[in-house]
Amino acid sequence: MDYSRALYRAPFVVPGNGPLIVDGAVLTEGGLVAAVGAYADLKDVEARREEYDAQVITPALVNCHAHLELSPLAGLTGEAPEPGDLTGWIRGLLAARAENSELEAVYDAARMALARLYAGGCRAVADIGNRPESRLLGEGFKTEVFFFLELLGLCGASEESALAALSGIEVEVCCTAHAPYSVGPALMRALKKRAGGRLFPLHVAESAQESEFLRTGGGPLSDFLGERGVEVAAFTVPGMGSVRYLDSLGVLDERTLCVHAVHVEDEEIALLAARGAAVCLCPGSNRFMGVGIAPGQKMLAHGIPLVLGTDSLASNPHLSLWREMQLLREDHPDLPPEAVFAMASSNGARLLGLADRLGVVAPGVCSSLPVVRCPVKNEAEVFDYLTSAGTDIQLEWLE
Ligand SMILES: [Zn+2]
Repeated sequence: MDYSRALYRAPFVVPGNGPLIVDGAVLTEGGLVAAVGAYADLKDVEARREEYDAQVITPALVNCHAHLELSPLAGLTGEAPEPGDLTGWIRGLLAARAENSELEAVYDAARMALARLYAGGCRAVADIGNRPESRLLGEGFKTEVFFFLELLGLCGASEESALAALSGIEVEVCCTAHAPYSVGPALMRALKKRAGGRLFPLHVAESAQESEFLRTGGGPLSDFLGERGVEVAAFTVPGMGSVRYLDSLGVLDERTLCVHAVHVEDEEIALLAARGAAVCLCPGSNRFMGVGIAPGQKMLAHGIPLVLGTDSLASNPHLSLWREMQLLREDHPDLPPEAVFAMASSNGARLLGLADRLGVVAPGVCSSLPVVRCPVKNEAEVFDYLTSAGTDIQLEWLE
């Protein structure tokens, strides 16, 4: 008996890069998947064996948008904002953040959030933060943290000071923009240039308030920025939607990840597709904020790479990609369940450059895989169950 190898058998295996395998098996060796296929084809290999009943072995999940630093602010989800009032929510967030700034408490809460992500089957997270040292949050965790330092500065002194700060940030720290309503053209271009071939995730078209500000220069966001000391009058109003505006700045390409993308027009969807930009859907956070529903179905039809993100505990009481899949399907009942599952797994792994290690069950990927309790007997129902059970999902890890 070769004890360095293990053969795991389950009624179903989701390879993530091909059809569902019925009565499947995964052979592992040295922390990696060595083979995956029908149990009948693998049953004679010499290996330690383990059998799972009523379970499905799936790829590890990938969360493409979170803010671990905001984890201590989970109390903000106790009461939903006025529907769509992003500005009101940001006001509450800034006040709560000022009261919860003690670093050790912030990082304790962030590590708890990471542990929750891991318990939910997630092995990688794209994390947006405001402290460079947060890039080390994932050390010692099985869920890898891909950290992006977010900068803000819309115009005048705020944009200039952010540009000055940018030049002093160590090269290995990935930097990104907060949003088109909080980052001016010069800073936006400088951030994108610095990102180069690295991923460039930013909040785009999350609320109608953002659209109003970019189109007219007015509305609640304008008032809020003024309150914060931003010289809003110095900002050149683009007079167009968020996606068109970003394209006019030359920052939309296949390494740009537009997060939320709720308030986008049909022509902007076509523009995203033409530029090869990816979109991170955050249905849970959007629902909490009442900002609307992103046109996920149309985006999929245009071939836009779609991934999923939970956003932070400050706008989503659950850090569960299973719940994000469930809500996305509630929002778009016609989306194919297989496509929804790919958004939470293989698509995210590809975007983060992890396709050879995560997001699928294939030779060479990490053998630490979710084993999900799955009450369905019929293979046609497996993806439907995985993408609609939400927080009812129970899982353990293969290794
Ligand atoms: Zn966010």
